[in-house]
Amino acid sequence: MYGQMMQMPLTISSLIEHAGRYHGKTEVVSVNTTGGIERLDWGTIEANSRRLASALDKLGLSKGDRCATIAWNNRRHLEIYFGVSGGGMVCHTINPRLFPEQLVYIINHAEDQILFLDETFLGVAAKLGDHLKTVKHVVLMGPRNDDAAKMVPGLLFYDDLIESGDASYEWPEIDENSPSSLCYTSGTTGNPKGVLYTHRSTLLHTLGGNQPDGLAISAKDCVLPVVPMFHVNAWGVPYIAAANGCKLVLPGPGLDGESLVNLIDGESVTLALGVPTIWMGLLGALESTGSKAASLTRTVVGGSALPPSMIPAFRDKYNVELIHAWGMTETSPLGTMNQLLQHHNSLPPEAQAEIRLGQGRPPYGVELRIVDDAGNILPNDGETQGALQIRGHWIVDSYFGMEENALTKDGWFDTGDVATIDSDGYMIIRDRAKDIIKSGGEWISTVELENTAIAHPAVANAAAIAARHEKWDERPVLLVVKIPDTTLTETDLLAFYEGKIAHWQIPDKVIFVDELPIGATGKVLKNKLRDLYGDVLIVDGAK
Ligand code: ADP
Repeated sequence: MYGQMMQMPLTISSLIEHAGRYHGKTEVVSVNTTGGIERLDWGTIEANSRRLASALDKLGLSKGDRCATIAWNNRRHLEIYFGVSGGGMVCHTINPRLFPEQLVYIINHAEDQILFLDETFLGVAAKLGDHLKTVKHVVLMGPRNDDAAKMVPGLLFYDDLIESGDASYEWPEIDENSPSSLCYTSGTTGNPKGVLYTHRSTLLHTLGGNQPDGLAISAKDCVLPVVPMFHVNAWGVPYIAAANGCKLVLPGPGLDGESLVNLIDGESVTLALGVPTIWMGLLGALESTGSKAASLTRTVVGGSALPPSMIPAFRDKYNVELIHAWGMTETSPLGTMNQLLQHHNSLPPEAQAEIRLGQGRPPYGVELRIVDDAGNILPNDGETQGALQIRGHWIVDSYFGMEENALTKDGWFDTGDVATIDSDGYMIIRDRAKDIIKSGGEWISTVELENTAIAHPAVANAAAIAARHEKWDERPVLLVVKIPDTTLTETDLLAFYEGKIAHWQIPDKVIFVDELPIGATGKVLKNKLRDLYGDVLIVDGAK
């Protein structure tokens, strides 16, 4: 048969080239680490990315070399995303909130050759110095700074690198299956594991994740990724933004509600993305500043379960739609997003709202299933719970540096989540397998207990954990942070559960605490709570 189509590799450089060529004048706004706002455009980001790639060539970096970043969401970080990957190296984003030992482990394991740092993290670099075995250059993401140079011997400066870079540098040809970026899981148990994304997996994630029923980012949008660029590539937003030429607002280090309100109103943000704790802060700040967040039409929420009370809070007062999404480091991360189907149009608003509470359904490109302990596939009936497994174009196959693959015998990745899936493919996370409470052979979802508690007007935050129990093996205990100046007793809160969940699922004990321990990606550290409170029912005597 004659005739064939062009074959062009799916590369990250093609994204930034597109942004530079067709959206060159569209703004990229960046809050600097040292304060102040910088206004650039995609044309400048593209030019700086090319200059950076050429400067890294001159420094002697080779294709495939890992280049680490410890940085906030800002324009230099964006240029590193494209300059490093576009130049054929691997952009390794690191979570700055990890403990120093974890940082050392990750940097040495990744064999990072160069470390880009925001000023905030200079002290960390100075301390890690001798422990880093492979890092040849440390680069401060900013202009030359003599005080900083004294702290880290041989320190390079990002702006000097850009200056020395070649503006006529051409992006190299790259095999689409070569690696482009690297992200480690936060490793709440055991050592963190690296997920090495390829140009191809990233491009397919960019296209598949941005369908009308996905993030749906268009050139008309102004997008604020509050989700950090070190948290699974800011959920792919930098790549999607470049492919679609939206205005991009990078919020820098200040992620408190008031800073976000200022950015949303000041830049006319239409879409923001982040974890639920961020939106709790934003709601408080909207209330205190009196802002109506008039430009904001939608918010994508993921990373941990969306508390149901948050949907009406944003919808009724601010006319903002909350889009619930689920994913993980191993899934690039977009695995499901929640938009309705045509046949839901005839449902009353309450029924539609109910569907949208769940984590949603997979876009084209990924598939989901649930299985029992023996690996048997369970029905998609919306009720049967099982271990959630996933496969697709942007799902991990094997972890970085590990020979064996991370999949089941028939090629699926086990997420560690427990879920139900209905006949339309809508998935609901019932719990993480390691968090779910196993009470006398029955399962109790900690997510459901928390959602109910958070709906109480005096509760600021809540976490349910499995506490050991002599008769039932495990029973629920609820840790609660009260809203300041409210009164709430254990009896009040337990009474609030009556009629909302089965009686036997109601927690055995409520403990009021000042705050919950939050991990590096903004999630409550349940393992820490289990260590602290796992025996409270034994000490109190079994019920
Ligand atoms: P970690 O939490 O270990 O740092 P990830 O960021 O990869 O790593 O988190 C992935 C996990 O986060 C998922 O397996 C799931 O348990 C949880 N998660 C993500 N999104 C949601 C969501 N929308 N609802 C409930 N849980 C979620």
